[in-house]
Amino acid sequence: MPGKNPTKSADAPRPAWDERLRYFSQHQDQIVETIRELVEIESPSDHKPAVDRVAAFLVQKFEALGGRTQLHRSNDFGDSLQTDFAGKASRKPVLLLGHYDTVSPLGTLANMPCKIDNGRLRGPGVLDMKSGIALMLHAIAALQAWHGALPRPVTVFLVSDEEVGSHSSRKTTEALAKDSAGVLVLEPAAGLRGAVKTARKGVGEYTLQVKGIAAHAGLDPGKGHSAVLELARQITVIAKMNNLRQGVSVNPGVIQGGTRTNVIAAEASVGIDVRIKRAAQAAGINRKLRSLKPFDKHCKLEMTGSINRLPMERTAGVATLYKKAQKIASQVGWKLEEAAVGGGSDGNFTAGMGIPTLDGMGGVGDGAHAVHEFIVISELPRRALLLAGMIEEV
Ligand SMILES: [Zn+2]
Repeated sequence: MPGKNPTKSADAPRPAWDERLRYFSQHQDQIVETIRELVEIESPSDHKPAVDRVAAFLVQKFEALGGRTQLHRSNDFGDSLQTDFAGKASRKPVLLLGHYDTVSPLGTLANMPCKIDNGRLRGPGVLDMKSGIALMLHAIAALQAWHGALPRPVTVFLVSDEEVGSHSSRKTTEALAKDSAGVLVLEPAAGLRGAVKTARKGVGEYTLQVKGIAAHAGLDPGKGHSAVLELARQITVIAKMNNLRQGVSVNPGVIQGGTRTNVIAAEASVGIDVRIKRAAQAAGINRKLRSLKPFDKHCKLEMTGSINRLPMERTAGVATLYKKAQKIASQVGWKLEEAAVGGGSDGNFTAGMGIPTLDGMGGVGDGAHAVHEFIVISELPRRALLLAGMIEEV
């Protein structure tokens, strides 16, 4: 049950936790409305004008809260958006990190409209991670309402290209993280129990190109050296690099090769996804992938790619943030769990620099990158409460 109104004074204007939760419950419909506005501006990573539209919309939203916005321009991707909020105390800022690009192509909304269905809000990007952006806006607004101003400086950085490797935004993410006391990543929570993410695997992407020698499959079958056959053999070698016990996984996921069935293939390639659990594993798997030798001496191999995101390891700094989050959650009788996940995010960059980082602070739901993507609406108030509390406590 909600408690009595706390006595307000200039030094202790912090509303009691149950009162905070009630505040966010009363604002639940507005949070949902903000999420809907964001989802209904489609923003696939590879469509700059679309991504820039959602950025322009968010410039207005953050400026309405008194934030100082700054677009980081990119020619190849959408622009990324930095917003700085001044705070009452001269503490180091906390960095709220996220992305507004999605994996869903333009037109997805037509078949997957943003709608409420049985307590769930559906739509492309609703979980990953437009609900996280809405939580940022509403947590900041609430802290301003409660304190008159933010209790400390807050920097919000929303990137345009997270789903395609964050190539245009990574440097800014790292520079902002360096000046921050901690980083809160508003990516989706892990699972329907809403766990925050205290460890993420590192991610790499590689391509193996095989060059063989073409020949007519009927007239000169002995003259050719098949790139397709060589690729098939290499894939079996690559698959053996999996070491799930150690947290290393290697997936030759996309293959291409050959031109016609009656031609011995001159070219073939495979795209490979690599995941590692510890930063120390990066060099080893990289070396293995790059030292493949052709079975057929007439074929040539060329491996390109790298580990793009090192793992987010559960460092002492990460564990400290999790403990703070757990304590806040416990104030409203919520046992906040933690999880280690296989997917990477920009939190991998900041944690890799040794900056305390807590990920999975965003919406609770399922189906990220899938047609059944949704968030659970009733989880929104306590996610907002947790974020507001963490902005104060980091
Ligand atoms: Zn995401």
